[in-house]
Amino acid sequence: MDRSFKELEAIVRNRICSVCTERTTEGQCGLESPPSCALFRLFPQVARAIQSVTSDDIHQYIEAIRRDVCTVCEAQARDGSCEVRRQVQCALDAYLLLVVDAIEEATARTFDKTGIGTLPAGPAAHPGPQIRL
Ligand code: SF4
Ligand code: SF4
Repeated sequence: MDRSFKELEAIVRNRICSVCTERTTEGQCGLESPPSCALFRLFPQVARAIQSVTSDDIHQYIEAIRRDVCTVCEAQARDGSCEVRRQVQCALDAYLLLVVDAIEEATARTFDKTGIGTLPAGPAAHPGPQIRL
């Protein structure tokens, strides 16, 4: 992948914020503290996790995000659980499939999405109507 972090973040912001349930009718982030959004607060880690994967298996990207982003996120408990994720309040997790789709767009890669229905537990495994993959 030869895109810069800024380019990749712009693609992901364009894709995710436009469908995020936190988005206001004015088109702004409705979080009390928009910089607290884990997806963009930790975007360098997100981008590095993406760049660390060379496989066409989408699960490896998901695992890389769990491994490289969630493990350094202040919201993750020592046992690996995350209350924010459990309450579907983490945009990175809630829109993980869309994030990966944005990565596909950015890298022009083709992922094997056939196994998405067997993802580990979490909102990404139950994407709901906002997921367009
Ligand atoms: S919570 Fe995150 S993904 Fe959602 S609108 Fe705010 S910055 Fe964008
Ligand atoms: S799922 Fe939890 S630990 Fe992972 S990035 Fe989101 S808030 Fe942080």
